[in-house]
Amino acid sequence: MAEQKNLGYSDTPLIPGTQWHVHDGNRPQPPVVQPGTASTPDSPGQPPSDAVILFDGSDLSKWESAKGGDAGWSVENGVMQVVPKTGDIQTKERFGDCQLHLEWAAPAEVKGESQGRGNSGVFMMGRYEIQVLDCYQNPTYPDGTTGAIYGQHPPLVNACRKPGEWQTYDIMWEAPQWDGDQLKKPARVTVLLNGVVLHHAIEPQGPTGHRNVSSYEKPHDPTGPLRLQDHGDLVRYRNIWYRPLKGYDQG
Ligand code: MG
Repeated sequence: MAEQKNLGYSDTPLIPGTQWHVHDGNRPQPPVVQPGTASTPDSPGQPPSDAVILFDGSDLSKWESAKGGDAGWSVENGVMQVVPKTGDIQTKERFGDCQLHLEWAAPAEVKGESQGRGNSGVFMMGRYEIQVLDCYQNPTYPDGTTGAIYGQHPPLVNACRKPGEWQTYDIMWEAPQWDGDQLKKPARVTVLLNGVVLHHAIEPQGPTGHRNVSSYEKPHDPTGPLRLQDHGDLVRYRNIWYRPLKGYDQG
């Protein structure tokens, strides 16, 4: 049997709040993940090896209509597209804390203005909207700009690509927590659009509304679906996956 290599130290102080010494060689090794690849204008990126795939371009088998029944959007050439008036779609799977990746494109043919141009939305846990909108040379109210926590936080910057071009969202999400009716911890989110930080570890004020102030008054389930919005515009999506966010030393 190979001799156990001594990788670290055990004569060092304990790291406060943990059972591990500083440089502890017996601390669990971080699990190995095969990284994916970035997307290009012509092809979606490759998910990392431990990702849960929600849409790989083949079909909507992981999705349903948010009103119940089958998802009404179209799938062609590895891409799903909103079919106006069929309604929002959502994943059958429910999840909470996660790293979410998706790619989207506003219609190449520019129509409408402000909130009427390439509008859709990514609803974390089915409730918290991160705005999808064509904001390339299309001003609108700031807390409704692409990447806004809709109605609450405008994005730090407008990092939109041109309409028709593929764009990426990378979203790190922590679900809110309640103790009975008492809010224990609000949601927390970090959002990158096309690799540019739009929000860093900010706390949404509650589920998304329209023309009202939100709150965490009503507790909801600790997990929820990913919901995509049908706002009547021909927005496309591809390469949608998430990784559950776990704590340190959890394998
Ligand atoms: Mg929207």
